[in-house]
Amino acid sequence: MSLFDGDRAEMIEVLKKKEIKNEEVLRVMGEVERHLFMPEYSRRRAYEDCALPIGFGQTISQPYTVAVMTELLFPQKDDKILEIGTGSGYQAVILSKLGCRVFTIERNVDLGRRAEQIFKTLNLRIASKIGDGTLGWKEYAPYNGIIVTAGAPVIPEQLQNQLKDGGRLVIPVGDKKSQTLIVVDREGNNFKQKEIDGFKFVPLIGKEGWKEIG
Ligand code: SAM
Repeated sequence: MSLFDGDRAEMIEVLKKKEIKNEEVLRVMGEVERHLFMPEYSRRRAYEDCALPIGFGQTISQPYTVAVMTELLFPQKDDKILEIGTGSGYQAVILSKLGCRVFTIERNVDLGRRAEQIFKTLNLRIASKIGDGTLGWKEYAPYNGIIVTAGAPVIPEQLQNQLKDGGRLVIPVGDKKSQTLIVVDREGNNFKQKEIDGFKFVPLIGKEGWKEIG
C-alpha cells in the first residue's frame, strides 16, 4: 500500500468517465506510480488529470492524453515501439508494462538521464538515448508503432519511413498553441491518416520539428 493508491484509483475512474475503454491501458495506468516520475514539488498533484511540470520547462503529459494516445497506438505484446519525447519516462513505462519492446528518445540530457535512472530502478528493459527524435532511431527500425509526445509542425518523413508495413504512428501536429492528434497507418508505401482535434503539447524541437522554443 502506498500513500497515493486511493488517488490513483480515482484517476482511473476519471479516465473511464472520459471514455477510455481499453482494459489493459486502464489496468497498467492503475498500477504504475505516476508520482515517481515527477519532482517532489509536483507529487501532491500527481493523480490529477492534468499535465504537470517536471523541470527544464517540460511537462509530464495529462493522464487522459497518455491513455488516448496509448489506446490509439493500440500496441500488442512484443511490439517494437519508438517513443519521441521521453520526458519523465512515464509513457515509456506504460508501454513497457503493456509488454512492448520500447525505444525512447529525449533531446534534453537531464530529463533523459533522469528517466534512464527510473527505468533502472523499476528494473525495466527500455532502450533510451539522447538526441533529435524527429530523425527517428534507424538502427532499430522498422517499428510496429511510433508515438510522438511533443507537438510537431508537420509529420517528420523519417518517422513515417521507419514504420513497419502495417505499423502506426500517433503524433500531435499543429501550431504551437494547439494540435490535432494524427494517426498514420502504413500500408506498403501508402500512409492513411485519421485526425482527432483539440490537444495541447509542448513543441517538438528538431531538424524536422520546430526550430526553437518560443
Ligand atoms: N512522454 C513524456 C512523459 O511521459 O513524461 C512527456 C513528454 S513532454 C510532453 C515532451 C518531451 O519531448 C519533452 O521532454 C521535450 O524535451 C521532448 N522533445 C521535444 N522535442 C524533441 C525531439 N526532437 N526529440 C526528442 N525529444 C524531444
